[in-house]
Amino acid sequence: PAFTKDDIRQMAKDEDVKFLRLMFTDLFGTIKNVEVPISQLGKLLDNKLMFDGSSIDGFVRIEESDMYLYPDLSTWMIFPWSTERGKIARVICEVYTPDGKPFEGDPRNNLIRVLADMRKAGFTDFNIGPEPEFFLFKMDENGKPTTELNDKGSYFDMAPMDLGENCRREIVLTLEEMGFDVEAAHHEVAPGQHEIDFKYADALAAADNIQTFKLVVKTIARKYGLYATFMPKPLAGINGSGMHLNMSLFHDKGNAFYDEKGNMQLSEDAFHFLGGLLKHARSFTAICNPIVNSYKRLVPGYEAPVYVAWSGSNRSPLIRVPSSRGLSTRLELRSVDPAANPYLAIAAVLEAGLDGLRNKLAPQEAVDRNIYRMDAEERQENHITNLPDTLHNALKDLAADEVMRNAMGHHLYQSFIEAKNLEYNSYRTQVSEWERDQYLELY
Ligand code: ADP
Ligand code: GLU
Ligand code: MG
Ligand code: MG
Repeated sequence: PAFTKDDIRQMAKDEDVKFLRLMFTDLFGTIKNVEVPISQLGKLLDNKLMFDGSSIDGFVRIEESDMYLYPDLSTWMIFPWSTERGKIARVICEVYTPDGKPFEGDPRNNLIRVLADMRKAGFTDFNIGPEPEFFLFKMDENGKPTTELNDKGSYFDMAPMDLGENCRREIVLTLEEMGFDVEAAHHEVAPGQHEIDFKYADALAAADNIQTFKLVVKTIARKYGLYATFMPKPLAGINGSGMHLNMSLFHDKGNAFYDEKGNMQLSEDAFHFLGGLLKHARSFTAICNPIVNSYKRLVPGYEAPVYVAWSGSNRSPLIRVPSSRGLSTRLELRSVDPAANPYLAIAAVLEAGLDGLRNKLAPQEAVDRNIYRMDAEERQENHITNLPDTLHNALKDLAADEVMRNAMGHHLYQSFIEAKNLEYNSYRTQVSEWERDQYLELY
């Protein structure tokens, strides 16, 4: 909603808001909060609220630490859970430098920049409908997550198999109180795994929603003694958690991907966008699947994609064109996982698609067979390549793709590569239980 400063002052007063939680997201997708008492509201509304940026991962060096938080008034929201000391309101902020420029290391600012490119290309909205999946684990007496799942349910199971049901229902109700339009909520394939889908929104709002969603899921799960995790593959041998992104471009006349007379009732723009996604798929993987563990999910056998291909009908490829047309015409990218920073992931896929439009890239032929039944030769004949199989290889693909590097902007790209190489090296130098089991006695 478009609130004015006066609206906000009034709402804060009427609802007796005592604290303001100023939210932004760091490089790694973690939500950061600066909490201030309501007495600071005036300062905040005047863009005068300062914080120490050097304490945030991937932000700035000590010597340039003063940063400002500019509130996006449309994101004002009073949390439905109140404390004994009054209500808490949140507002999502953009990070600005002392000389009044959008800070380049802020992933949300970066998405705003990429969205401006999209408008120049003649579109009004980049709509994103996410399908985040997560696991509910039991917590121990100290409030630490265990690896014990809270149920043995499976896809679309009902209680009593699905003990997470009450928890999930409260999550849905809370989301609705917070203005989410929840379209579906169900148990997922793996035990303890759930999915909640909410209505698509323009890119920026969608990324904000994903962040808010994670906060709500984690908060409510705790009330039930459960720990909600968005880790992509918490347990080997069962499905991991994805966050499929449904996407479409809109212009003044509606959905730019829909053309009643087009091939498959898709527009030329839809095919070019798809061509861009396919071309850059390997290089945006590091952004959409940013942690070591992400690559344990992208393996055959668990409904997660492994190959770069698209289809109008089957669910095994990277990109699917769901059958709905008209306003709901969309592409579904299935590789993204919920560890991704949504601002960065959405900026990357949008740039990939826009590159496809600019260069009129044509997608390879659709693959309507099960790719997992093809051998390497057949895949080659069908121009099907592999997604990177480790974070290390994904980072190499990203480094080689200028369009994707630009999608992040220089500051974010540099910090990202540096941090992710450290992360990968730290992993690579570990010796795991698996290795000892395999080798200790054999050699
Ligand atoms: P699936 O077919 O993979 O199960 P779901 O029905 O679970 O997909 O999710 C569909 C998602 O797509 C929802 O978030 C919905 O709001 C979103 N969606 C619908 N139309 C569009 C559109 N035009 N652009 C982007 N997302 C859309
Ligand atoms: N959990 C699967 C994944 O890792 C997706 C299952 C589904 O199609 O909803 O992407
Ligand atoms: Mg799912
Ligand atoms: Mg899906």
